[in-house]
Amino acid sequence: MTPRMTAQRIDGKAFAAQLRERVGTIAAEFEQEAGRKAGLAVVLVGEDPASQVYVRSKGKATVAANMESFEHRLPEDASEADLLSLVERLNGDEAVDGILVQLPLPGHIDEQKVIAAISPDKDVDGFHVINAGRLSVGQSGFVPCTPLGCMMLLTDRLGDLSGLEAVVIGRSNIVGKPMAQLLLDANATVTIAHSRTRDLPAVVRRADIVVAAVGRAEMVKADWLKDGATVIDVGINRLPPEPGAQKGRLVGDVDFGGASEVAGAITPVPGGVGPMTIAVLLRNTLVAAHRNAGLDVPESL
Ligand code: NAD
Repeated sequence: MTPRMTAQRIDGKAFAAQLRERVGTIAAEFEQEAGRKAGLAVVLVGEDPASQVYVRSKGKATVAANMESFEHRLPEDASEADLLSLVERLNGDEAVDGILVQLPLPGHIDEQKVIAAISPDKDVDGFHVINAGRLSVGQSGFVPCTPLGCMMLLTDRLGDLSGLEAVVIGRSNIVGKPMAQLLLDANATVTIAHSRTRDLPAVVRRADIVVAAVGRAEMVKADWLKDGATVIDVGINRLPPEPGAQKGRLVGDVDFGGASEVAGAITPVPGGVGPMTIAVLLRNTLVAAHRNAGLDVPESL
C-alpha cells in the first residue's frame, strides 16, 4: 500500500496578514508623498446582515492599513438613480481612490448598470467590463480581489506555473473566469470546468492545480485529485447545524479531510482564500491611489 501523504496547509490568513502589513507601510509612505491618505469608498444599499458585516470589516481593515474609509449607506428602497448619482459623485471626488458597491443589490437595481457607472480607474473590485477587457488582453487594470489573492497563494507556493495543468471549477465573472485568465497569463495550461462539464472527476484528475469556485459543500472528493496537486478552495458553504448547535460549520467546495491525504498543498476553509480577498482589496486601492496621484506603483505591491 502506498503511504498516505499529508498536504501542507496553505495559510491564507498569515499570508493576508503580511500583505495587509505591507500595504499599511506603503500607505503611510503614500500619505507622506501625496499629502493625503489613500481612500476607499464602500457603498451599501439596504440592511442585508451578511453585507453589513462585510462592509464593517472592510472599513476597519482600511483604517488599520493607514487609509481613509468612506462608508455610504442607502436605504433598501433607494432608487437606481440615487445610487448612480452617488457613484457619479464618488467618481469625481479626489479623496476617493477606490469605489466598492457591495453586492448583491436589491432586486430593483440593475447591478451591471451600477458597475458600469464606476470609473474603471476607481473600480478596485475589477468588475467593470473595461477591467475585464484589460485583463483579457494583458493590459494593467484592476483584477478581481479573490482570484488575484488565489494567484498570490499559488505563486508563493509553486513559483513558476509554466506548463502546469490547471483546472478551474466554476466560470463566474468574479472568480472562475478571471482566475482562468490569470493562470493562462502565468503560462499554465488551463481548463475551465462548470456545471455542464462531462465527467468532472476525470477532468480534475489531470490537474496539478485545482481551483474550486462552485458554492457546493465538499463537492470535490479526494479520489478526484492527482497525487500532490495544489488545491485552492474558494467555496464558502455553511453546513446545516449539528443537533444542539445554532450554526452549521463553514466548509469549502473541497472535502478537506480526504483531499488532505492526496493533495500536496491545500487551502483550509475558513482561513485560506477568504482572508486574501480583503487584503487584495486594500492592495488594489493603494495601487489606484498611486495611479490617481501620478506616482509610480511600488513593485512590492
Ligand atoms: P457562482 O454561483 O457565480 O458560480 C458558480 C459556478 O460553479 C458556476 O459557474 C457554475 O457553472 C459552477 N457549477 C455549479 N454547479 C456545478 C457543478 N455541479 N459542477 C461543476 N461546476 C458547477 O459563484 P461564485 O461567485 O463564483 O462563488 C463560488 C463560491 O466561492 C461560493 O461558495 C462563494 O461563496 C465563494 N466565494 C468566496 C470568496 C472568498 O472571498 N473566499 C469570494 C467570492 C466567492
